[in-house]
Amino acid sequence: MKIGILALQGAVREHRNALHQLGVEAVEVLNPEDLDGISGLILPGGESTTMGKLLVRYNLLEPIAEAGRNGLPVFGTCTGLILLSKHIINSDQYRLGLMDTFVERNAFGRQLASFEAEMPIPVLGSKPFPAIFIRAPYIEKADARVNALLTFENKILFAEQNNFLAAAFHPELTEDTRVHEYFLSNFVQTNIK
Ligand code: GLN
Repeated sequence: MKIGILALQGAVREHRNALHQLGVEAVEVLNPEDLDGISGLILPGGESTTMGKLLVRYNLLEPIAEAGRNGLPVFGTCTGLILLSKHIINSDQYRLGLMDTFVERNAFGRQLASFEAEMPIPVLGSKPFPAIFIRAPYIEKADARVNALLTFENKILFAEQNNFLAAAFHPELTEDTRVHEYFLSNFVQTNIK
């Protein structure tokens, strides 16, 4: 089993390390052919306007969106959450538009540009998850088809819908691999059965 990591920009190496720690092979996705034979795809953090433009330039936007619509498990962190969303508040930037979410970018304001918080995420067990937020977005509202896995002050910070998983934070920047494990065991494995 191989998991692709979109490698146009952002925290690619950190996601690869997390997958390696779990004994899973990672491949970099830089062109449409790289999508062949992967069992899941990770969209890393970075800068969503830039990454959207690069997705178009590398002819990846439509192929990834189509693979997602056809059931490829996709896990987006931070910028990845923005790209997965159908609605980005006050922005017409490029996106994959696969989740029925309304996303606010850089949503925590300047003072809170970057922070770490221990967050209770029931699907990961009773131990809180050390969530790192970097100029993070949040999901302002979502369709009922979206399942919120972490909500803080009425904002959704971790969510799933069908074959899509999205985190406003950066699990690849911590030693804790539970979010990657959750993606692998609940999205990828169930998908390849
Ligand atoms: N603020 C960035 C954006 O809008 C996301 C930041 C991140 O991925 N760490 O794309």
